[in-house]
Amino acid sequence: MEKIIDEKKQGESLVLAQKEGNKRKLFIESYGCQMNFSDSEIVASILNEQGYNTTQILEEADLVLVNTCSIRDKAEQTVRKRLEKYNAVKQESNPNMKVGVLGCMAERLKSKFLEEEKIVDLVVGPDAYKDLPNLLAEVDEGRDAINVILSKEETYGDIAPVRLNSNGVTAFVSITRGCDNMCTFCVVPFTRGRERSRDPQSILEEVNDLWNKGYKEVTLLGQNVDSYLWYGGGLKKDFDKASDLQKATATNFSKLLELCAQAQPKMRFRFSTSNPQDMTLDVIETMGKYKNICKYIHLPVQSGSNRILKEMNRQHTREAYFELIDNIKRIIPDCAISQDMIAGFPTETEQDHQDTLSLMEYVKYDFGFMFAYSERPGTLAERKMEDDIPLDVKKRRLNEIIALQQKHGLMRTQEHVGKIEEVLIEKTSKRSDAHWSGRNSQNTMVVFPKENYKIGDFVNVKITNCTSATLMGEAVGYSENN
Ligand code: SAM
Repeated sequence: MEKIIDEKKQGESLVLAQKEGNKRKLFIESYGCQMNFSDSEIVASILNEQGYNTTQILEEADLVLVNTCSIRDKAEQTVRKRLEKYNAVKQESNPNMKVGVLGCMAERLKSKFLEEEKIVDLVVGPDAYKDLPNLLAEVDEGRDAINVILSKEETYGDIAPVRLNSNGVTAFVSITRGCDNMCTFCVVPFTRGRERSRDPQSILEEVNDLWNKGYKEVTLLGQNVDSYLWYGGGLKKDFDKASDLQKATATNFSKLLELCAQAQPKMRFRFSTSNPQDMTLDVIETMGKYKNICKYIHLPVQSGSNRILKEMNRQHTREAYFELIDNIKRIIPDCAISQDMIAGFPTETEQDHQDTLSLMEYVKYDFGFMFAYSERPGTLAERKMEDDIPLDVKKRRLNEIIALQQKHGLMRTQEHVGKIEEVLIEKTSKRSDAHWSGRNSQNTMVVFPKENYKIGDFVNVKITNCTSATLMGEAVGYSENN
């Protein structure tokens, strides 16, 4: 299920400003999480300096790069189908085209890609994009090239990403890379390496630059943003070894959020993803304190059963999660909350599944992103547990979770009806050229007649109607933020 926060369509190829004098054509497309889309902007920026302009026409590309996802088996199958498509184009009309695989699948399969997929010339892991110029020189000389070394330091903080296929209003800014959580189902720690944070100064510079270019909303991105910790560089796990001065002057996530909110008081800030074990009270309090920090938290829980949470190594209990939810609702009563849920993790019983449904009943999430468990090679669950829940049972439980989420989603959107809410206009509505679409602070899509408003305006909208995912209304004037 595609995330609502995902701005870009899966597989969308990217177009950027063409640099004069560049002769070669790059076709780059991305799959998976928002981090991949953000990374592709860094890759396009690096290659723009190497003589490549982007194209959306596969048949005319000199170089095709696919930024890949390994999170579930289905994501990998989608990429394999794309490789077949590139191969067909190469055979039929573009024999000199070179093909490279980037991202998590590149990291997971490494040189196997070059051996198995004869079409692939280049394999580059998520921490090696700065090596692309050298790797492409190898490819030009007729050799296959690979770099899948994971880094302790790389955050690409010094590369100004080009904003691709952008609406000019909302942008993503990476603040951490990698993940240290070691959830037993998850491939991310193996494909994206250990967790490191980006220098807050470079984050603020990017935020200020975006504001100066007319952007109105930034989403701070990381696998686990609440775990952000800057103490002068290095891995999160090595913080214990830092000097007293480094420890005293370290920047944590709530401080970073505050720095952003203060640096651009008219800009909206969002963040994703939060892990319940790392979300602290000071983050919630900072959200409550600043109007320009949006009232929305994506707080994946994966299961409502304490036994399964333990098997997943989630490092918090159902009770601790409820306490966190209670604190969020106490400090920010109008805060929207969304979940990620996995149905059919190994050994999950009907009672465990009922615990998930009852947890959902307690929270009544605004949105949800729900998946059937997919065993991933190399993960702790794959090594230690049997994938023992039959597919039909996984699917039935998943459908029950989705149905309950739809019911709660509708309840939550109905709560907005009758209210006047600030909306940032992002684009023309998919369903009607005469309507704008944008999001309120709680991240719900709001659709309303265009009148004389324009993209990038902050508008107060009276909500008159809703579905389970969208609000409909009418503008009543500019908001004070405009
Ligand atoms: N970093 C976040 C966290 O810790 O919750 C999100 C990580 S992942 C990129 C996004 C979602 O994919 C997860 O929250 C989880 O629900 C789902 N996911 C990850 N591994 C999975 C697997 N093996 N099978 C099914 N869903 C999976």
